[in-house]
Amino acid sequence: MTVRVQFLGSGSAFSDGGRANAAIHITAPGVSLLLDCGGSALPAIKKQIDPKAIDAIAVTHLHGDHFGGIPFLAIEQHFTGRKKPLVVGGPPSLEQRLRAEEQALYPDFFGPTTLGFPLNTVVLGAQPTALGGARVTALPVRHIRLAEPHGLRVEVAGKLIAYSGDARWTEELAAVAKGADLFICEATFFERDDPSHISYRQVMAHRKEFEAKRIVLTHLGAETLAHLSEVELEYSTDGMQIEI
Ligand SMILES: [Zn+2]
Repeated sequence: MTVRVQFLGSGSAFSDGGRANAAIHITAPGVSLLLDCGGSALPAIKKQIDPKAIDAIAVTHLHGDHFGGIPFLAIEQHFTGRKKPLVVGGPPSLEQRLRAEEQALYPDFFGPTTLGFPLNTVVLGAQPTALGGARVTALPVRHIRLAEPHGLRVEVAGKLIAYSGDARWTEELAAVAKGADLFICEATFFERDDPSHISYRQVMAHRKEFEAKRIVLTHLGAETLAHLSEVELEYSTDGMQIEI
């Protein structure tokens, strides 16, 4: 069965190159799952798909460019008549941080009975969780501790999609990617040795250790974009679709 992966937002935190924040839509028959929903995700989503099609969101970590767009999506869905639930899975503090964000942005809107559909959260972890028609596992990676960083392993229609979120190179990141049909890996930097992000050079150096059939780079920052002509791996652009 074919699984479609659409990169709605492929940019870094600072939207280098005008790219939108992280938002990756996975679809298959009975499956509609968004991986991350960054602050600028809503316009990126609406350019490519009907937001109503999104059944669930899996959040890698609690940085604004990965989960900051959820309140905007929720309000848009409310005012366009959504009734079906939207489930958001993510790190342990997701519920607290998402509710704080809602109250900071629209305290007049987000209340216990305001939203016209259920917006529920669930904690993702090492045991698979049913989410948006897929089975999602979240494994810890090294990034910024306060953001509770995780990489995701998404089982969908017999395929395994792994996603780094934001992470520097460690064995834990290799465990996220292991055996994946598709490993979506961040490449904020091209060759800079950063304590929080893996670089393209490091992805290449550890390519075999990932044991992934296919690697597509995303979360491309200014340094990586400046070196795109040297990049030998597949890399995403906003709106790009692939099938696995
Ligand atoms: Zn981050």
